[in-house]
Amino acid sequence: MRLEADELYFWKFVAAIEKKITGTAHMEINQEMIAFGPVPSRRLGRSLGVNNIPPKKCTYSCIYCQVGAIGKIQLGRRELYLPEIIVQEVEKKVKKTMEQGESIDYLAFVPDGEPTLDIHLGDEIDLLRPFGVKIGVISNASLIWREDVRKDLMKADWVSLKVDAVDKKIWRRINRPHHDLQLPVIQEGMLQFAREYTGKLVTETMLVKNVNDSITHLKDVADFLSQLSPAKAYLSIPTRPPAEKRVHPPDEEVLNTAYQILSSRLKDVECLFGYEGNAFSLTGNVEADLLGIVSVHPMREEAVREFLTRAGKDWSLVQNLIYHNLLFETEYEGQKYFMRRLDGKKE
Ligand code: SF4
Repeated sequence: MRLEADELYFWKFVAAIEKKITGTAHMEINQEMIAFGPVPSRRLGRSLGVNNIPPKKCTYSCIYCQVGAIGKIQLGRRELYLPEIIVQEVEKKVKKTMEQGESIDYLAFVPDGEPTLDIHLGDEIDLLRPFGVKIGVISNASLIWREDVRKDLMKADWVSLKVDAVDKKIWRRINRPHHDLQLPVIQEGMLQFAREYTGKLVTETMLVKNVNDSITHLKDVADFLSQLSPAKAYLSIPTRPPAEKRVHPPDEEVLNTAYQILSSRLKDVECLFGYEGNAFSLTGNVEADLLGIVSVHPMREEAVREFLTRAGKDWSLVQNLIYHNLLFETEYEGQKYFMRRLDGKKE
């Protein structure tokens, strides 16, 4: 498994010659960036990131992308790094992590771009198996209509697919795909993958104010997601500076509506709204525990009351959190809900 130093130099040499002959950066070697972490992730626990493509290579150019402006939008899968080099970089990180007595829950393909553009993705997953750590891939799903991409993703233990829009116009507006991509073809590929995949399939929907957050569109998204039947459907919002300055998260009331609409059709919906608190881990600090829960799942009033009773607290705790702008109250279909305030949001 381990690459010896001279082997590595050999591969680097091959890449350099190749670049010279073809005049293209066929294999761009920037090894320091290949493996990073482990970092705590609410979705994957302690995950060691695998950057299997050079930054900003993507099939989309999402308006909310935090990678920065995507250069030329790409469609063809290609060889980007040698799989052996990826394995070597991961091995170094795994070793270091183990030496420090820390654990790794997932090796996660989370590049600053689309990981399925890498033609060796499946081989890399195979080569990483001997580490005995589960493998996850976060994909925008744009190439899932290709059989070879589905085959590669099948090898992972956990796959996240992006579903921001199910309406062509909204999809073009939010994801700004390569002009040859077709939404119905991608959706068919996702459905086929969901039927065949035996690992854990999750979805992620990024909500952008006045772009994909209308009730009609959210219902259509929920209908499509229910056909995919993911183990979990994540809702997220742009939190770090996005590619386009005009991109904003929807209002909190709208986020609650989105959560309720998806929850009415799906078994498990979770919000990733920027607050990475102690979701569901009971710390003994009732305020922190309550905030942790409502940051992931908006809670109905009776559920909050029950929670307080069990913790031996009264309603003043909620009033205090509202006063300090950490919690807010909203309504959906006649029911009162409590959600965590978005970070930094002020009245
Ligand atoms: S799919 Fe991801 S990397 Fe690609 S443009 Fe969208 S947000 Fe950026």
